[in-house]
Amino acid sequence: MKKITRNIPFGYPLLDDNEKKEIIKVLSGYILAHGPRTKKFEEEFCKFTRAPYAVSVSSCTSGMHLVYEALNISKNDEVLVPAQTHVATAHAVEHTGAKPIFIDCDPATGNIDPNKIEKKITKKTKAIVVVHFLGLPVDFIEIKKIAKKYKLKIIEDCALSLGAKANGIHTGLLGDAGVFSFYPVKHITTGEGGMIITKNKNLAKKLKILRALGVDKSFSERVLPGMYDAKFLGYNYRLSELQSALGIHQIKKINFFLKKRAENFNYLYKNLSKISSLRVLPSSYKSYKGSFYCLSIILNKELRNKRKLIITNLNKKGIGTSIYYPQPVPRMTYYKKKYRYLKKDFIHSEEISDCSICLPVGPHINLEDCKFMLKNINLILKKIHEKN
Ligand SMILES: *Cc1c(COP(=O)(O)O)cnc(C)c1O
Repeated sequence: MKKITRNIPFGYPLLDDNEKKEIIKVLSGYILAHGPRTKKFEEEFCKFTRAPYAVSVSSCTSGMHLVYEALNISKNDEVLVPAQTHVATAHAVEHTGAKPIFIDCDPATGNIDPNKIEKKITKKTKAIVVVHFLGLPVDFIEIKKIAKKYKLKIIEDCALSLGAKANGIHTGLLGDAGVFSFYPVKHITTGEGGMIITKNKNLAKKLKILRALGVDKSFSERVLPGMYDAKFLGYNYRLSELQSALGIHQIKKINFFLKKRAENFNYLYKNLSKISSLRVLPSSYKSYKGSFYCLSIILNKELRNKRKLIITNLNKKGIGTSIYYPQPVPRMTYYKKKYRYLKKDFIHSEEISDCSICLPVGPHINLEDCKFMLKNINLILKKIHEKN
């Protein structure tokens, strides 16, 4: 007898016919870069987040690099970076020549632990970068207090936090700048792509110049075609018209996407929280509301050496899983070699990397899929329990 299996990928971009038609339209014209669609996507992104300024970029990683450069972070500076994050958060710091100083997370949320920040601050510290872990806003009040006291810039890695708000303010507007990702598994996608938002007009202006080679006149501002001057050492970190065309349509669907994510998350959260051999990371606390990127379960002691077995069994049933993030960044080879790794400093980040399993909650799945996931998790755990 054939086993009933489902196909529940961890992430799946939802692109519809309108978006595909839009791409054909762009291809039928002659403006493929520097065009009106990029501008429109930035405007739509401002509307959704209520950001005064948005600057589109080629990825979240390039966006963060651009922000650090625009804030003049460079060699001999130090930047405080969460240990539990995507390697991109730290790589972007490394590219400026500055040194990332890693900080462990709060085990209850996976977010940077504000209590561990102050003792890592030195005369060289210029900025704190925070990541809203799995879309849950960081404890902003505390972090802002520290930043103010030591005159540090705050950069937000918002790759997973589209739709997440702290006290009603969209993530990305809590510090100096926030950067989003449109990589295929994120909340919305443009294939590759990113967006920086900020309340600072001058910073936005500088970011726009640096994103386009440090050139003084944008394409539409040139009096004579082809005439421009370079005032800064800029980059080519632009988003194309093809990508922006997708973005305009995707951002229109974000409220629907978030609603589906919340439904899936809440169903799984309610039921998985009843299992005593694991805990589930929350999607809200105080008046901070997350973006339901995925659902992370942390296995308790008795299940820790069974993670691989649980994952393979889920995958066999067609249930996609992932791990966020596979290692505390300072434990990754590049960083370990360069700065050494002190295990005792990153106990909580290690717990999340080594004992968690992330389950999908995206709009590509429905409540039936969630029930199927729940049923199979319970079956797998029961089998493990019986064998012990
Ligand atoms: C995915 C991710 C990134 C990288 O985004 P790109 O757009 O691929 O550069 C950065 N930070 C975090 C927290 C992420 O999850």
